[in-house]
Amino acid sequence: MAKLYLVPTPIGNLDDITLRAVSVLRSVDMILAEDTRTTSFLLRHLGIEKPLRSHHKFNEHATAQFFSEVVAAGQNVALVSDAGTPGISDPGFLLVRTCVEQGVEVETLPGPTAFVPALVNSGFPCDRFCFEGFLPQKKGRMKHLERCRDEERTMIFYESPYRVVKCLEQFSECFGADREISVSRELTKKFEQTVRGTIAEVLDHFRTHEPKGEFVLVVAGKPTKKKKHEEEDQDVED
Ligand code: SAM
Repeated sequence: MAKLYLVPTPIGNLDDITLRAVSVLRSVDMILAEDTRTTSFLLRHLGIEKPLRSHHKFNEHATAQFFSEVVAAGQNVALVSDAGTPGISDPGFLLVRTCVEQGVEVETLPGPTAFVPALVNSGFPCDRFCFEGFLPQKKGRMKHLERCRDEERTMIFYESPYRVVKCLEQFSECFGADREISVSRELTKKFEQTVRGTIAEVLDHFRTHEPKGEFVLVVAGKPTKKKKHEEEDQDVED
């Protein structure tokens, strides 16, 4: 039975592609790409030549049914996005849902994604966390954030460099300037950097160092009551 494969691709460092991702890309009949130029570059680097089709946020509603039928008819198809894991703040979900609804086999390969290294690198608890992805760009940002105000798990946000400072200001308003945050930029690339501190400190840093590159912001969860008591006990002992 043919399958739809979701194949993660590097988020910067081309060496991060897995051996299995390469072997699947080599073996499928067709590759669906978010941007065929970006994927052509990767495929050339890997020495792979395959029929490429566009599958992006502007056509995925129209093409999901078609590509699901292509797999049902016996063709193995791989879906890739420009970087990282398809479906994670990238096209993928609609096609997977359509395939699942129609009994078409889906297999997602493990591999690169930006939020996992940013989360683990933060030093915040990662036994439980919530992935918030991109906040709405204009209307509804604060409303969305307010729903996270009492979140006790570590929270992960994606943000464009142009909105990082605004985003940190809004975090300060919502979570308080003293909440701990870890901001990772350019993961796996030459200028990879993680800036950790309170929201106030990190905001200060990015007001004086222009945010450049790609960003993941990891916010510590609201301190739990247990933690507060532990701190109070500590204060009494002091
Ligand atoms: N599918 C991708 C994944 O699995 O992480 C996410 C794609 S989303 C369109 C792009 C966003 O992911 C960027 O704006 C940034 O927030 C984050 N991102 C992607 N690559 C990154 C990198 N090398 N360093 C930091 N953040 C990155």
